[in-house]
Amino acid sequence: MPAELNFAPAPLDREAPVYVAGHRGLAGSAIWRKLEAEGFSRLVRRTSAELDLKDRAAVFEFFEQEKPEYVFLAAAKVGGILANNTYPADFLSENLQIQVNVMDAAVRFGVRRLLFLGSSCIYPKFAAQPISESALLQGDLEPTNDAYAIAKIAGILNVQAVRRQHGLPWISAMPTNLYGPGDNFSRLGSHVLPAMIRRYEEARLDGVESVTNWGTGSPRREFLHVDDLASALLHLMENYDGAQHVNVGTGTDVTIKELAEAIAATVGYEGTSEWDASKPDGTPQKLLDVSKLNGTGWFPTINLEQGLKSTVEWFREHAEDFRQ
Ligand code: NDP
Repeated sequence: MPAELNFAPAPLDREAPVYVAGHRGLAGSAIWRKLEAEGFSRLVRRTSAELDLKDRAAVFEFFEQEKPEYVFLAAAKVGGILANNTYPADFLSENLQIQVNVMDAAVRFGVRRLLFLGSSCIYPKFAAQPISESALLQGDLEPTNDAYAIAKIAGILNVQAVRRQHGLPWISAMPTNLYGPGDNFSRLGSHVLPAMIRRYEEARLDGVESVTNWGTGSPRREFLHVDDLASALLHLMENYDGAQHVNVGTGTDVTIKELAEAIAATVGYEGTSEWDASKPDGTPQKLLDVSKLNGTGWFPTINLEQGLKSTVEWFREHAEDFRQ
Protein backbone atom coordinates (compact mmCIF):
# COMPACT_ATOMS: atom_id res chain seq x y z
CA MET A 1 0.00 0.00 0.00
CA PRO A 2 1.75 3.23 -1.08
CA ALA A 3 2.16 5.84 1.62
CA GLU A 4 0.13 9.01 1.11
CA LEU A 5 1.98 12.06 -0.14
CA ASN A 6 1.37 15.30 1.60
CA PHE A 7 2.13 18.21 -0.72
CA ALA A 8 0.42 21.44 -1.63
CA PRO A 9 2.14 24.16 -3.66
CA ALA A 10 3.35 26.79 -1.20
CA PRO A 11 6.40 28.91 -0.49
CA LEU A 12 9.01 27.07 1.57
CA ASP A 13 9.26 28.27 5.16
CA ARG A 14 12.05 30.91 5.14
CA GLU A 15 12.74 30.23 8.84
CA ALA A 16 13.21 26.46 8.45
CA PRO A 17 16.67 24.88 8.34
CA VAL A 18 17.73 24.14 4.76
CA TYR A 19 20.74 22.00 3.91
CA VAL A 20 22.49 22.65 0.60
CA ALA A 21 24.72 19.63 0.00
CA GLY A 22 27.60 20.62 -2.26
CA HIS A 23 27.26 24.36 -1.56
CA ARG A 24 30.73 25.14 -2.98
CA GLY A 25 30.05 23.52 -6.34
CA LEU A 26 28.80 25.17 -9.52
CA ALA A 27 25.16 24.20 -8.90
CA GLY A 28 25.25 24.27 -5.10
CA SER A 29 26.81 27.73 -4.85
CA ALA A 30 24.10 29.14 -7.12
CA ILE A 31 21.39 27.46 -5.01
CA TRP A 32 23.00 28.95 -1.89
CA ARG A 33 23.06 32.47 -3.40
CA LYS A 34 19.44 32.15 -4.47
CA LEU A 35 18.22 30.97 -1.06
CA GLU A 36 20.16 33.74 0.68
CA ALA A 37 18.66 36.31 -1.66
CA GLU A 38 15.19 34.89 -0.98
CA GLY A 39 15.62 35.47 2.75
CA PHE A 40 16.17 31.93 4.03
CA SER A 41 17.60 32.54 7.49
CA ARG A 42 18.78 29.09 8.55
CA LEU A 43 20.93 27.79 5.71
CA VAL A 44 23.18 24.87 6.60
CA ARG A 45 26.35 23.88 4.79
CA ARG A 46 29.43 21.69 5.17
CA THR A 47 32.44 21.32 2.92
CA SER A 48 33.49 17.78 2.01
CA ALA A 49 36.45 18.23 4.38
CA GLU A 50 34.07 19.05 7.25
CA LEU A 51 31.55 16.33 6.36
CA ASP A 52 32.45 13.58 3.92
CA LEU A 53 29.04 12.42 2.71
CA LYS A 54 30.54 8.96 2.11
CA ASP A 55 30.87 8.65 5.89
CA ARG A 56 27.48 7.22 6.84
CA ALA A 57 27.81 7.63 10.60
CA ALA A 58 28.93 11.25 10.22
CA VAL A 59 26.01 12.01 7.88
CA PHE A 60 23.50 10.61 10.37
CA GLU A 61 25.11 12.59 13.18
CA PHE A 62 24.93 15.76 11.09
CA PHE A 63 21.23 15.28 10.28
CA GLU A 64 20.44 14.53 13.91
CA GLN A 65 22.21 17.72 14.98
CA GLU A 66 20.95 20.12 12.28
CA LYS A 67 17.51 18.58 11.56
CA PRO A 68 17.13 20.16 8.11
CA GLU A 69 13.56 20.37 6.87
CA TYR A 70 14.53 20.88 3.23
CA VAL A 71 17.51 19.45 1.37
CA PHE A 72 19.00 20.35 -2.01
CA LEU A 73 21.25 17.42 -2.93
CA ALA A 74 23.83 18.98 -5.25
CA ALA A 75 26.87 17.14 -3.88
CA ALA A 76 28.33 14.60 -6.27
CA LYS A 77 31.57 13.35 -7.71
CA VAL A 78 31.50 15.09 -11.10
CA GLY A 79 34.02 14.99 -13.92
CA GLY A 80 34.66 15.16 -17.65
CA ILE A 81 34.81 12.29 -20.13
CA LEU A 82 38.42 11.46 -19.34
CA ALA A 83 37.91 11.21 -15.57
CA ASN A 84 34.64 9.28 -15.96
CA ASN A 85 36.23 6.86 -18.39
CA THR A 86 39.36 6.36 -16.28
CA TYR A 87 37.77 6.02 -12.83
CA PRO A 88 34.31 4.47 -13.41
CA ALA A 89 34.42 2.47 -10.17
CA ASP A 90 35.02 5.65 -8.14
CA PHE A 91 32.22 7.54 -9.91
CA LEU A 92 29.79 4.68 -9.30
CA SER A 93 30.75 3.99 -5.72
CA GLU A 94 31.16 7.55 -4.43
CA ASN A 95 27.95 8.84 -5.94
CA LEU A 96 25.95 5.87 -4.68
CA GLN A 97 27.38 6.34 -1.19
CA ILE A 98 26.70 10.10 -1.12
CA GLN A 99 23.11 9.67 -2.30
CA VAL A 100 22.22 6.69 -0.15
CA ASN A 101 23.70 8.17 3.00
CA VAL A 102 22.00 11.54 2.54
CA MET A 103 18.64 10.06 1.59
CA ASP A 104 18.67 7.41 4.35
CA ALA A 105 19.49 10.07 6.94
CA ALA A 106 16.87 12.40 5.45
CA VAL A 107 14.23 9.66 5.78
CA ARG A 108 15.37 8.84 9.31
CA PHE A 109 15.10 12.48 10.43
CA GLY A 110 11.94 13.28 8.48
CA VAL A 111 13.17 15.78 5.86
CA ARG A 112 9.94 17.25 4.47
CA ARG A 113 11.18 17.97 1.02
CA LEU A 114 14.35 16.90 -0.78
CA LEU A 115 15.44 17.72 -4.32
CA PHE A 116 17.91 15.40 -6.02
CA LEU A 117 19.94 16.57 -9.01
CA GLY A 118 20.29 14.22 -11.94
CA SER A 119 21.95 15.27 -15.18
CA SER A 120 20.98 15.33 -18.86
CA CYS A 121 24.11 13.23 -19.59
CA ILE A 122 22.43 10.18 -18.04
CA TYR A 123 19.81 9.91 -20.79
CA PRO A 124 20.42 7.23 -23.43
CA LYS A 125 23.11 8.09 -25.95
CA PHE A 126 20.72 8.10 -28.89
CA ALA A 127 17.63 9.59 -27.25
CA ALA A 128 15.29 11.42 -29.65
CA GLN A 129 15.69 15.23 -29.61
CA PRO A 130 14.49 17.20 -27.79
CA ILE A 131 14.91 14.70 -24.95
CA SER A 132 11.76 14.20 -22.91
CA GLU A 133 11.65 12.89 -19.36
CA SER A 134 10.22 9.58 -20.57
CA ALA A 135 13.44 8.80 -22.50
CA LEU A 136 15.22 7.77 -19.29
CA LEU A 137 16.20 4.07 -19.29
CA GLN A 138 14.87 3.59 -22.84
CA GLY A 139 18.22 2.92 -24.53
CA ASP A 140 21.93 2.27 -24.20
CA LEU A 141 23.95 4.73 -22.16
CA GLU A 142 26.99 6.64 -23.35
CA PRO A 143 29.72 4.07 -22.52
CA THR A 144 32.26 6.65 -21.34
CA ASN A 145 30.07 7.72 -18.40
CA ASP A 146 27.81 4.72 -17.88
CA ALA A 147 28.98 4.13 -14.29
CA TYR A 148 28.19 7.74 -13.33
CA ALA A 149 24.85 7.51 -15.14
CA ILE A 150 23.82 4.32 -13.36
CA ALA A 151 24.63 5.90 -9.98
CA LYS A 152 22.57 9.00 -10.82
CA ILE A 153 19.69 6.90 -12.17
CA ALA A 154 19.77 4.99 -8.87
CA GLY A 155 19.39 8.37 -7.13
CA ILE A 156 16.25 9.15 -9.14
CA LEU A 157 14.88 5.71 -8.33
CA ASN A 158 15.78 6.27 -4.67
CA VAL A 159 13.61 9.40 -4.60
CA GLN A 160 10.73 7.49 -6.22
CA ALA A 161 11.10 4.61 -3.78
CA VAL A 162 11.05 6.97 -0.77
CA ARG A 163 7.89 8.56 -2.14
CA ARG A 164 6.22 5.12 -2.44
CA GLN A 165 7.39 3.67 0.82
CA HIS A 166 7.52 6.67 3.15
CA GLY A 167 5.10 9.12 1.54
CA LEU A 168 7.65 11.96 1.52
CA PRO A 169 7.07 14.34 -1.41
CA TRP A 170 10.65 14.38 -2.65
CA ILE A 171 11.53 15.25 -6.24
CA SER A 172 14.32 15.06 -8.83
CA ALA A 173 15.45 17.55 -11.45
CA MET A 174 17.48 16.85 -14.57
CA PRO A 175 19.57 19.89 -15.55
CA THR A 176 21.09 20.45 -18.96
CA ASN A 177 24.70 21.75 -19.37
CA LEU A 178 25.28 24.43 -16.77
CA TYR A 179 27.59 27.40 -16.85
CA GLY A 180 28.17 30.55 -14.81
CA PRO A 181 30.15 31.99 -11.93
CA GLY A 182 32.07 29.24 -10.12
CA ASP A 183 32.50 27.12 -13.24
CA ASN A 184 35.50 24.82 -13.66
CA PHE A 185 38.08 26.62 -15.81
CA SER A 186 40.95 24.21 -15.19
CA ARG A 187 42.73 22.88 -18.27
CA LEU A 188 41.84 19.31 -17.45
CA GLY A 189 38.21 18.51 -16.91
CA SER A 190 36.49 21.73 -17.89
CA HIS A 191 33.45 21.63 -20.17
CA VAL A 192 33.22 23.23 -23.61
CA LEU A 193 31.91 26.63 -22.53
CA PRO A 194 34.42 27.50 -19.77
CA ALA A 195 37.23 25.95 -21.84
CA MET A 196 36.34 28.27 -24.73
CA ILE A 197 36.14 31.33 -22.50
CA ARG A 198 39.62 30.60 -21.24
CA ARG A 199 40.96 29.92 -24.76
CA TYR A 200 39.59 33.17 -26.22
CA GLU A 201 40.53 35.28 -23.21
CA GLU A 202 44.10 33.95 -23.23
CA ALA A 203 44.31 34.51 -27.02
CA ARG A 204 43.18 38.10 -26.51
CA LEU A 205 45.70 38.72 -23.74
CA ASP A 206 48.53 37.12 -25.74
CA GLY A 207 47.58 38.94 -28.96
CA VAL A 208 47.17 35.65 -30.86
CA GLU A 209 45.59 36.19 -34.30
CA SER A 210 43.70 32.93 -34.60
CA VAL A 211 42.01 30.45 -32.25
CA THR A 212 41.50 26.83 -33.30
CA ASN A 213 38.57 24.88 -31.88
CA TRP A 214 37.91 21.15 -32.12
CA GLY A 215 35.47 19.77 -34.70
CA THR A 216 33.33 21.49 -37.32
CA GLY A 217 31.43 23.73 -34.91
CA SER A 218 28.10 22.37 -36.19
CA PRO A 219 26.86 20.33 -33.16
CA ARG A 220 24.05 22.00 -31.27
CA ARG A 221 24.12 22.32 -27.47
CA GLU A 222 21.92 23.82 -24.78
CA PHE A 223 23.37 25.93 -21.94
CA LEU A 224 21.61 27.03 -18.77
CA HIS A 225 22.98 29.72 -16.49
CA VAL A 226 23.36 28.46 -12.91
CA ASP A 227 21.36 31.36 -11.49
CA ASP A 228 18.46 30.28 -13.69
CA LEU A 229 18.99 26.71 -12.50
CA ALA A 230 18.76 27.82 -8.88
CA SER A 231 15.62 29.81 -9.57
CA ALA A 232 14.05 26.80 -11.34
CA LEU A 233 14.93 24.45 -8.49
CA LEU A 234 13.40 26.69 -5.83
CA HIS A 235 10.34 27.04 -8.06
CA LEU A 236 10.05 23.24 -8.34
CA MET A 237 10.45 22.80 -4.59
CA GLU A 238 7.57 25.21 -4.08
CA ASN A 239 5.32 24.17 -6.93
CA TYR A 240 5.99 20.70 -8.29
CA ASP A 241 5.23 17.30 -6.92
CA GLY A 242 5.57 14.09 -8.88
CA ALA A 243 7.53 10.87 -9.05
CA GLN A 244 8.94 11.73 -12.46
CA HIS A 245 12.02 13.93 -12.61
CA VAL A 246 11.73 17.31 -14.36
CA ASN A 247 14.07 18.47 -17.13
CA VAL A 248 15.62 21.86 -16.40
CA GLY A 249 16.92 23.76 -19.39
CA THR A 250 16.24 26.69 -21.67
CA GLY A 251 14.60 24.69 -24.45
CA THR A 252 16.85 26.36 -27.01
CA ASP A 253 20.26 25.41 -28.33
CA VAL A 254 23.09 27.02 -30.28
CA THR A 255 25.76 25.60 -32.54
CA ILE A 256 29.23 25.39 -31.08
CA LYS A 257 30.28 27.88 -33.76
CA GLU A 258 27.63 30.35 -32.56
CA LEU A 259 28.83 29.79 -29.01
CA ALA A 260 32.43 30.53 -30.03
CA GLU A 261 31.35 33.75 -31.78
CA ALA A 262 29.38 34.86 -28.73
CA ILE A 263 32.32 34.13 -26.42
CA ALA A 264 34.80 35.90 -28.71
CA ALA A 265 32.53 38.95 -28.73
CA THR A 266 32.07 38.86 -24.96
CA VAL A 267 35.79 38.69 -24.15
CA GLY A 268 36.57 41.24 -26.90
CA TYR A 269 38.75 38.92 -29.00
CA GLU A 270 39.28 40.42 -32.45
CA GLY A 271 41.17 37.59 -34.21
CA THR A 272 39.71 34.78 -36.30
CA SER A 273 38.32 31.36 -35.36
CA GLU A 274 39.45 28.17 -37.11
CA TRP A 275 37.79 24.76 -36.94
CA ASP A 276 39.80 21.53 -36.91
CA ALA A 277 37.38 19.14 -38.61
CA SER A 278 39.77 16.21 -38.11
CA LYS A 279 38.75 16.22 -34.43
CA PRO A 280 35.50 14.51 -33.35
CA ASP A 281 32.27 16.49 -33.17
CA GLY A 282 30.37 14.34 -30.69
CA THR A 283 26.63 13.89 -30.94
CA PRO A 284 24.94 16.34 -33.39
CA GLN A 285 22.42 17.71 -30.92
CA LYS A 286 21.66 17.65 -27.20
CA LEU A 287 18.55 19.53 -26.21
CA LEU A 288 16.05 18.92 -23.42
CA ASP A 289 12.30 19.00 -23.87
CA VAL A 290 11.35 21.50 -21.15
CA SER A 291 7.59 21.55 -21.72
CA LYS A 292 6.97 19.91 -18.34
CA LEU A 293 9.02 22.59 -16.52
CA ASN A 294 7.37 25.38 -18.51
CA GLY A 295 4.00 23.83 -17.64
CA THR A 296 4.73 24.52 -13.96
CA GLY A 297 5.08 28.20 -14.84
CA TRP A 298 8.87 28.57 -14.88
CA PHE A 299 10.86 30.10 -17.75
CA PRO A 300 14.53 31.16 -17.94
CA THR A 301 15.41 34.84 -17.62
CA ILE A 302 19.14 34.94 -18.44
CA ASN A 303 19.97 34.80 -22.15
CA LEU A 304 23.31 33.52 -23.40
CA GLU A 305 24.71 37.01 -23.98
CA GLN A 306 23.95 38.15 -20.41
CA GLY A 307 25.06 34.82 -18.96
CA LEU A 308 28.40 34.87 -20.77
CA LYS A 309 29.04 38.40 -19.58
CA SER A 310 28.74 37.49 -15.88
CA THR A 311 30.73 34.29 -16.41
CA VAL A 312 33.59 36.11 -18.15
CA GLU A 313 33.59 38.73 -15.37
CA TRP A 314 33.85 35.97 -12.78
CA PHE A 315 36.65 34.27 -14.70
CA ARG A 316 38.61 37.53 -14.91
CA GLU A 317 38.20 38.13 -11.18
CA HIS A 318 39.49 34.62 -10.47
CA ALA A 319 42.04 34.35 -13.30
CA GLU A 320 44.93 34.07 -10.83
CA ASP A 321 43.45 30.79 -9.53
CA PHE A 322 43.73 29.27 -12.99
CA ARG A 323 47.30 30.19 -13.86
CA GLN A 324 48.69 26.66 -13.93
P1 NDP B 1 30.85 20.50 -8.64
O1 NDP B 1 31.97 19.52 -8.85
O2 NDP B 1 31.04 21.91 -9.03
O3 NDP B 1 30.44 20.46 -7.11
C1 NDP B 1 30.17 19.27 -6.45
C2 NDP B 1 30.19 19.52 -4.96
O4 NDP B 1 29.96 18.26 -4.33
C3 NDP B 1 31.50 20.04 -4.45
O5 NDP B 1 31.35 21.37 -4.00
C4 NDP B 1 31.91 19.10 -3.32
O6 NDP B 1 32.14 19.74 -2.10
C5 NDP B 1 30.69 18.22 -3.14
N1 NDP B 1 31.11 16.85 -2.86
C6 NDP B 1 31.69 15.96 -3.71
N2 NDP B 1 31.99 14.82 -3.05
C7 NDP B 1 31.61 15.02 -1.75
C8 NDP B 1 31.68 14.24 -0.58
N3 NDP B 1 32.21 13.00 -0.60
N4 NDP B 1 31.20 14.76 0.58
C9 NDP B 1 30.69 16.01 0.61
N5 NDP B 1 30.58 16.79 -0.46
C10 NDP B 1 31.06 16.31 -1.63
O7 NDP B 1 29.59 19.87 -9.36
P2 NDP B 1 28.35 20.61 -10.05
O8 NDP B 1 27.87 21.71 -9.18
O9 NDP B 1 28.70 20.87 -11.43
O10 NDP B 1 27.28 19.44 -10.03
C11 NDP B 1 26.39 19.24 -8.95
C12 NDP B 1 25.26 18.36 -9.39
O11 NDP B 1 24.64 18.94 -10.53
C13 NDP B 1 25.70 16.96 -9.79
O12 NDP B 1 24.75 16.04 -9.32
C14 NDP B 1 25.68 16.98 -11.30
O13 NDP B 1 25.36 15.74 -11.84
C15 NDP B 1 24.57 17.98 -11.56
N6 NDP B 1 24.67 18.58 -12.88
C16 NDP B 1 25.73 19.38 -13.23
C17 NDP B 1 25.83 19.88 -14.53
C18 NDP B 1 26.95 20.76 -14.97
O14 NDP B 1 26.95 21.17 -16.16
N7 NDP B 1 27.88 21.11 -14.12
C19 NDP B 1 24.83 19.56 -15.54
C20 NDP B 1 23.77 18.73 -15.06
C21 NDP B 1 23.72 18.26 -13.79
P3 NDP B 1 33.53 20.47 -1.68
O15 NDP B 1 33.67 21.64 -2.61
O16 NDP B 1 33.32 20.92 -0.27
O17 NDP B 1 34.62 19.47 -1.84
